[in-house]
Amino acid sequence: MFIATTVDDLRTQRRALTGRVAFVPTMGALHAGHVSLIDAGHTLADHVIVSIFVNPTQFAPHEDLAKYPRPLEADLAACQAAGAVGVFVPTVDVMYPPEVPESIVETPTVAADLEGKLRPGHFRGVCRVCAKLFNMVEPDIACFGMKDYQQLKVVEAMVADLAMPLQIVPCPTKRDDDGLAMSSRNVYLSKDERHLALGLNKALREAEALIIEQGESDPSAIEAAMTMVLKAHEVVIDYAVVRHPQTLAPIDSIEPGLTGGVVALIAGRVGTTRLIDNRVIGG
Ligand code: AMP
Repeated sequence: MFIATTVDDLRTQRRALTGRVAFVPTMGALHAGHVSLIDAGHTLADHVIVSIFVNPTQFAPHEDLAKYPRPLEADLAACQAAGAVGVFVPTVDVMYPPEVPESIVETPTVAADLEGKLRPGHFRGVCRVCAKLFNMVEPDIACFGMKDYQQLKVVEAMVADLAMPLQIVPCPTKRDDDGLAMSSRNVYLSKDERHLALGLNKALREAEALIIEQGESDPSAIEAAMTMVLKAHEVVIDYAVVRHPQTLAPIDSIEPGLTGGVVALIAGRVGTTRLIDNRVIGG
């Protein structure tokens, strides 16, 4: 497995590969969710390249950039065990050379609401780093987790609009046995907080039951039910909404038969840890 720290080294290694290349961009602190993306890459391509880069441009000043976990040795071992052909581990100066002025990457409209509203500049940073990584790695496909649903839709929209020559592959959210969506940020949770964090998945299951089993068609009734579950788990809610699964726009009512489906999305804080989760229902 190659470990590249410069763009030149990455390009040399990548261009020596024959066949299809899948790319899995990450911020490290790898868990089974990340590994599932590497596995998905192997089913669709001949080689998988992983990047590990805690991208400062997608963190707001008050967010957890400095304390974000960086267990590099364990991450490299996980990539090796998962069969990655190579790992790109750039420094901040390699990704953003101080002498190169920033080019503007405009975010697509699907970035405007939800995370985009609550974390100004976040998706601008995501689009910028993904555009750069795609140009550096030149993959045929890139695997993204549905765990970060809005991010997936933003990256899909950017790739489509800018005609980037790769395919974005959505991969299902990997959960712990108790239903908590795996996240590098789960290490911040105390034992009690971890229990409270289950409220996110419970609220999403409640939304699904209301829609599928009871035929509830009013998004605000579903949002109220999710809010109740979250409050019972002491989750400080940023949003708990039911949206169009592609545009993430609000919907007036859920059509009978659920053609196209909906997505329920939640963001909230448990203690000082911010968590997000979602569930695609129907469609
Ligand atoms: P991150 O390291 O948090 O930037 O995530 C890197 C990639 O892993 C993104 O495409 C995430 O959506 C994906 N990912 C994170 N958590 C999970 C999970 N529990 N299941 C599947 N994919 C995930």
